[in-house]
Amino acid sequence: MTQPASTNSAADVEANKNVERLPDSYYTQFLSASALKRKPSPIRGLFPLENTPGLISLLAGKPNPTTFPFTELSFKTRSPTNPEEEITLTVDGDELKQGLQYSDTAGTKPLLDWLFGLQERFHGRKRGEGWRISVGSGSQDLIYKAVQALVNPRDPVLVESPVYAGTIPMFENLSCEQIEVETDAQGICSGSLRYILESWPTGKPKPKILYTVPYGCNPTGMTATLERRKEVLQLAQEHDFLILEDDPYFYLYYGEAPRYPSYFALEQADLKQTGHVLRFDSFSKVLSAGIRIGFASGPTPLLTAIDTHTATSNLQSSSLTQAIAATLLNSWGYDGFQAHIERVADFYREKRDVFERAMKKHLQGLAEWSTPEAGMFFWFKLLLYDDPSEDGDSKAVIETTAFNRGVLALPGTAFLPNGRKTAYVRASFSLTPEEDVDTAIGRLRDAILDAKKE
Ligand code: PMP
Repeated sequence: MTQPASTNSAADVEANKNVERLPDSYYTQFLSASALKRKPSPIRGLFPLENTPGLISLLAGKPNPTTFPFTELSFKTRSPTNPEEEITLTVDGDELKQGLQYSDTAGTKPLLDWLFGLQERFHGRKRGEGWRISVGSGSQDLIYKAVQALVNPRDPVLVESPVYAGTIPMFENLSCEQIEVETDAQGICSGSLRYILESWPTGKPKPKILYTVPYGCNPTGMTATLERRKEVLQLAQEHDFLILEDDPYFYLYYGEAPRYPSYFALEQADLKQTGHVLRFDSFSKVLSAGIRIGFASGPTPLLTAIDTHTATSNLQSSSLTQAIAATLLNSWGYDGFQAHIERVADFYREKRDVFERAMKKHLQGLAEWSTPEAGMFFWFKLLLYDDPSEDGDSKAVIETTAFNRGVLALPGTAFLPNGRKTAYVRASFSLTPEEDVDTAIGRLRDAILDAKKE
C-alpha cells in the first residue's frame, strides 16, 4: 500500500520554523518579458471586493444564473472505502450557482480550500507560507502558461531527456535551446546536471528552469530516487534555477512504501529553503481526464504570472467541473481520497505485472527495460542488432512492421527534443485488457524478428 509523502506531525511544524522563504523580489529575474508586460485584468482584480458585506455590485458582465437551464446536477459514485456501496451526490443551491457562474481566475473557493489541505497532507506545505495554488484546465494548461511566464525566446532551458513530448513544442515555439539532461532508472543524472552547470560558458545567460516528471516518468517510467532529488534540489539552490515538477503520476505510485517525497516537500524538509519548486498536479489519472482539472502550487509571484495569462486567455478553468470535483472530494474527505488513490495504484501495479510477464515471455533477448514503479509506461530498447554497440532506430519497426502485425506503440524519437533516432519505444499498459496483452507483445516480438531479418 502506498503512503503519503509526509504527515504533519508537531515535530514537522516545529522544524518548518527554521525554513527560509525566498522573497517575492527573487522572482523578477525569472519572469519573461511577456509576463512582465501583462497587466492584471481590471475586472477580475476587483472580483474579491464583491464579497464585501453590504456591497451592491454593478461590476462584472456576469450572466444571471436564473436564466440557466440547470437546477440540479446529480451523479453516482462508489464509496472509496467500500466499492460495493453506490452513493448519489448532488450539486445544487449555492454550489450549483457558483458552478454555473464565472469564478476567480485561480479557481473556486471550495476546490482551492480542499487542495490546500491535500498539499499539506501529501507534501507538508501549509497554506499561507508564501505559496499558493491555481487551478487550470488540466496541468498541460498550467505548464504552458508557466513556460510562457518564465521563458524568453531563445532562452536555454534544462529538460530531462527523454522528455514528455507535450513540452517539446512549447520550447520549440520559443526557439529555445533545449539542453537535455541525461536520465536513468534513478531519475535525472545529477552528476551530468552538475557538469552542465559548472561548465556553463561565462557570459552566456544561465538556464532558469529545469523540467522533470519525477514519478513514473512519461515516457521512461522512471521514478527519481531520494538521493537524486536531493542533489537536483541542491543544484537548483546553488545555480538559481526553478524546478518545474510535473507530477501527474504521483498518485499512481505502486512501489515500496514509504514513497519518496516530492521536490515540493523536500525543498522545505531538506533544503530548508522554499521557493525553487513550481509543482504541477493533475486529476486526469485519478478522477477523470475529461474533467480537465490540474493545479499548480508554488511561489505566489509565479502563480500570479500564470493567473494574469489565464485572465486574458481562457479567463478561468470550468467552474462547473470544479464544483463537481469539490462535491466529490468533500464527500470523500482526505482519508477517502487516500483510499481511492491506493486502489487506483493497486490497479496499475497489477496492469504492470501482467504486461511485464508477457514481455519476459516474448521479448527476452529482443528488448531491454527497467520495471516502472509508478505510472503507466514501459520504456524499452529494441535489440535490433546482434552487435550491442549498434543502436538502431525504432521508428520504422514500430510505425510500419509492428503496425502491419497489428500492434501500435510510440517510437522513442517523439520524446527527444532534436527528434534524433533511438532504438527505444514507449508502450502504455493502462488500457489493454489482460487477454490482449499477450497477443500484443507476441506481435511486437514478431515485428522485431522481421526487422532483424531485413
Ligand atoms: N504532463 C505529463 C507528464 C503527462 O503525461 C500529461 C498527460 N499526458 C500531462 C502533463 C497533461 O495532463 P493533464 O491532463 O492534466 O493536462
